[in-house]
Amino acid sequence: MATIELKQVEKRFGTAYAVKPVDLTITDGEFVVLLGPSGCGKTTTLRMISGLETVTTGQILLNGRNVTWLHPSERDIAFVFQFYALYPHMSARDNIAFPLRAQGMKGPEVDKRVAEVVELLRVGHLLNQRPGRLSGGDQQRIALARALVRRPAAFLMDEPLGALDAEFRESMRAEIKRVHIFEQATTVYVTHDQIEAMAMGDRIVVMSAAEVQQVGSPSQVYYDPANLFVARFIGSPGMNLIKGRFVGESVRLPGANNQLPVPPAYRQPLREALGAEGDVIVGFRPESALASASGSVAGEVYASDMHGAYRLLHVHVGDEGAEPNIVHVRSDRLLSLPLGSAVRFDVLPEMIRFFDPGSQKAIPRDASIPEPVMAPPGEMMEAVQ
Ligand code: ATP
Repeated sequence: MATIELKQVEKRFGTAYAVKPVDLTITDGEFVVLLGPSGCGKTTTLRMISGLETVTTGQILLNGRNVTWLHPSERDIAFVFQFYALYPHMSARDNIAFPLRAQGMKGPEVDKRVAEVVELLRVGHLLNQRPGRLSGGDQQRIALARALVRRPAAFLMDEPLGALDAEFRESMRAEIKRVHIFEQATTVYVTHDQIEAMAMGDRIVVMSAAEVQQVGSPSQVYYDPANLFVARFIGSPGMNLIKGRFVGESVRLPGANNQLPVPPAYRQPLREALGAEGDVIVGFRPESALASASGSVAGEVYASDMHGAYRLLHVHVGDEGAEPNIVHVRSDRLLSLPLGSAVRFDVLPEMIRFFDPGSQKAIPRDASIPEPVMAPPGEMMEAVQ
């Protein structure tokens, strides 16, 4: 079991920052995901925790002990790369036992530890097979068992599912999460896949351009992104972000007569950030926009995608600015509107967010004012509770 602390940890290669100073405390048993696009510094951060990469400045503490300059082998941390590399000439059982034997462990103790992970991952029927005779998914389960058997203080995983196809990714994601729930081992997991991060993380550290953008629960980064980068990066598609003009109690949007009321909890913060009137970026998720004949925002259907359980309308709202303003609205799967047809929608007021166009940061609402609640659909409940 382990607590991992990063104190002003940074990494430069020459003069270029791979990781700008990070402060982060990962609590015992937590599953933390480092998420961001390629080259943002996730792997370097993980390698510094493991000791495979030195820090330029800062400190890394493991259970309060300064391990910044310790060799990886002295840190009691297991670094898990992609899982597939099993030894082909060994049985599944010997593959799983290998890390224990390599440490000099023998006989009954090895058998006991192997039996524990075998039970957890339900792979008892595979133990006498060689990897070549196993399906891809079963090979991954054996490889996960081998990674787990050592019971280190913490696991560091760098895109462990990166090489798997979609079907195996989902089942292995569930296996890793199950194992984490049973073992409660502190885990730091790197991925560029925001769906994986949302599904697995207790907390997500969103990184971009060598810098931490936000640290929060999946709900926090999804519903309350700290800035425009996080708003765009999380969600598929990302948050709708359109330029608006704050004018007292409403915000005007592109298109004639299009406007949304400013929820009470945002009125004072917007006045403080923007003055009596000012440009602002309005954000809302596709599922927070509800198509309705009496909706206060009008546009026309630009494209329409069927997603099985729902339909995603791409709605064009006004021509201001160089780029067309396209908003994604999640609508009923049976609502089939021809391209170019007029459509109206409302936005759930408690789901509207505002961003400062200059700083690109979210303008926080006044938490002392209760948000209006408009009978939210099930999946929004957790965000407003
Ligand atoms: P990816 O998902 O592509 O691995 P990442 O977010 O994990 O990306 P890092 O691998 O941590 O990013 O790299 C961060 C930055 O540091 C990149 O610009 C990369 O080119 C640079 N970098 C990483 N390792 C080295 C190195 N050994 N020497 C020089 N630059 C490096």
